Amino acid sequence: DLFGPRFCSPCDIKDLFCTALGVPRNTNLSLLDPSGEELFQNVLTQVAEQFSRAFKINELKTEVSNRLAMLEKRVELEGMKVVEIDKCRNDIRNLREEMISRNHRYCSFLEDNKKLTPRRDVPSYPKYMLSQQTIEALKKPAFDVWLWEANEMLSCLEHMYHDLGLVKDFNINPITLKRWLLCIHDNYRNNPFHNFRHCFCVTQMMYSMICLCSLQEKFTQVDILILMTAAVCHDLDHPGYNNTYQVNARTELAVRYNDLSPLENHHCAVAFQIFSQPDCNIFSHFDPEAFKQIRQGTITLILATDMARHGEILDSFKQKVDIFDYTDEEHVTCLKMVLIKCCDISNEVRPMEVAEPWVDCLLEEYFMQSDREKTEGLPVAPFMDREKVTKPTAQIGFIKFVLIPMFETVMKLFPQIEEAMVQPLRESRDRYEELKQIDDAMNEVGEHVKPDHRREEEVNTV
Ligand SMILES: [Zn+2]
Repeated sequence: DLFGPRFCSPCDIKDLFCTALGVPRNTNLSLLDPSGEELFQNVLTQVAEQFSRAFKINELKTEVSNRLAMLEKRVELEGMKVVEIDKCRNDIRNLREEMISRNHRYCSFLEDNKKLTPRRDVPSYPKYMLSQQTIEALKKPAFDVWLWEANEMLSCLEHMYHDLGLVKDFNINPITLKRWLLCIHDNYRNNPFHNFRHCFCVTQMMYSMICLCSLQEKFTQVDILILMTAAVCHDLDHPGYNNTYQVNARTELAVRYNDLSPLENHHCAVAFQIFSQPDCNIFSHFDPEAFKQIRQGTITLILATDMARHGEILDSFKQKVDIFDYTDEEHVTCLKMVLIKCCDISNEVRPMEVAEPWVDCLLEEYFMQSDREKTEGLPVAPFMDREKVTKPTAQIGFIKFVLIPMFETVMKLFPQIEEAMVQPLRESRDRYEELKQIDDAMNEVGEHVKPDHRREEEVNTV
């Protein structure tokens, strides 16, 4: 009510008019009406009312827009509440599902080492259904290790522990077994070769040998448990660069283990770090003596996988094999060491279609190392050098001078491996020798066809 009598006197209005007209305030204003001031007052009152109404409309506008804003805010808030409620509902549903699935789940841990703390999706149950056909095939060296996803390999490993009677005989908690295996999986790196599938291959070959050689009739269940567990753990957290690199590059591992089998020591240490977590310790209920025996046995086997010790271990075994005594602990330990060595390098025992891709994986890992050695100015082993090695040359020597002599020695104790394991090795050797002859012939042709190119290459390498 700005222009009402409370706020505006007629004088104020007159001043306003004068200002608007640009005349001095004391100018006499006349509305040219004979009744004079009365009319002026009326006009002013009407003007004031018009203004007042206009201002009221503005007030109303302000109020309406304030109210609108408030309503909008409320709608927004209510909307947020709806979203919140929906979110809560989802959270509750997820929580309920998680609680339901808890029983089927592998565990998660809280640990400073990131790799020891698996937090991952858990494979759904159907993955764990192994067909009877798979279960039978799993016992043979010809098992196709490429057909399976990680979940399925985990399921196979789990099956082996059950099938060998280890879960029953040692009263292993089956849930802990699942959690332990998942943790093992998470602690293998995605290297081209030294990855979880390699772990699976080695363990599956061990299982095959246990079945094929009826090792359960010769060994105690403790020995079987050690053989399987060492196979599962034998390359844990492998960085993809071998001991030679570790030593030459003076890596943390080489320094920690004083250049003595740094990788194998590390695999073993990681294995027992995992067992130190109660949720993953399949031996948690073992009495201290039993645990000590398992621990010592596992360490011995994992350390035996260092190929730098190949000659030493095989020679020791050769001395015992003709007079082998299963009651002699030293003999048994030596045999177990040779068995894990056999399994570790057993890819060429598998059918050609299964074995060959592993050569590419190994060379990929080797080339990764030799490339790095070249850039770091470290010595490069010829068998790792992409300029010098081919698939046949990489395999022939290894099969002839490492694999066949070792498996033929084991064959003296277990003649049944000749057909299933040694024969495939001989066939693989012959196949790679043929491939090498073809390679050599091609190179010879290449030399005649492109002499200038060859010479150019030679100049470049000089
Ligand atoms: Zn290995």
